[in-house]
Order: sequence, then structure tokens, then C-alpha cells
Amino acid sequence: MDNCIFCKIIKGEIPSITVYEDNNVKAFLDISQATKGHVLVVPKKHVKDIFEYDEELAKDVFAKIPMIARAVKESDPEIKGLNIINNNGELAYQSVFHSHVHLIPRYTQKDGFSMSFKDNSDSYDNEDLKKIAENIKQHLG
Ligand code: AMP
Ligand code: ZN
Repeated sequence: MDNCIFCKIIKGEIPSITVYEDNNVKAFLDISQATKGHVLVVPKKHVKDIFEYDEELAKDVFAKIPMIARAVKESDPEIKGLNIINNNGELAYQSVFHSHVHLIPRYTQKDGFSMSFKDNSDSYDNEDLKKIAENIKQHLG
């Protein structure tokens, strides 16, 4: 992918600050540092988003995340938690269309990072939930 910023980082055409690298994966500091120590884990193979992974690539990439997450956490005793986020599609806040996983260390409730999940459980009864699950199951590969 000629115009992909993460492919350029992987090829060394654009600088990055690497924390881990192997044949399949590169992990480097996110330039935005949403919180201190914010790391991106990126497959070296260009895939746009989670929908383009096959099982082998997923194993190569996701198997490395716990190790990198532990290293981030152990890098600073002030880190009390870690959010792992993978955005897919513009609507879901993806802005770089080479798949990546954010590791965002958490320090305090006021460290500047937040997420919100609305509780819509009142809107679904058990039958509704079963139908939703059935529909998803029919689409498993
Ligand atoms: P997303 O919005 O999930 O697609 O995240 C893209 C991330 O890539 C953002 O957090 C950016 O700060 C980060 N980013 C963009 N360009 C660079 C770069 N050259 N080096 C490091 N991180 C980058
Ligand atoms: Zn790419």
C-alpha cells in the first residue's frame, strides 16, 4: 500500500519509536500519546481492519499483545490499568486504514482518557437477545 502511513513506518520510510518488532508485528509509540506510554501494535502485512484478518495473522498479532501490554504496565508503577482498543471503520473512530491495536495505559480517572457504554438492557428481552445471537451465529465463518 503505497500511500499507507503505517506501511511507510514498517518499511522505515517514516520514523517511529519502536518498542517491539518481529517478522509479523511492529509496536511503536503512538504520536498522540493519549496517555503516557500509548503504544500501537500493527501487523506488518497491510490489512485495512479486523475484517481482513485470517486466523494465522490474528494469531501472529494478537498473541503478542499480552506480552507488550505487560511491558507497558511494568514500565511505570503509576500505571493502574490499560485500555486495549481497535477501531474499525471511520464511524468507529478509525483514522488510519492499516489495522492497529491501541494500548492505552491508565493512571487516574482524570488522565484525559474516557469511554462510555450506554446500558440499553431495558430495551431487550431474552427473546430479542436470542434472535440477535442466532443471527450472528448464522454468519460465523
Ligand atoms: P485510529 O484513530 O484508531 O485510526 O488511530 C490512529 C492513530 O495513529 C492515532 O492515535 C494517531 O495518533 C496515530 N498516528 C498517526 N500517525 C502516526 C505516526 N506517524 N506515528 C505514530 N502514530 C501515528
Ligand atoms: Zn499499510
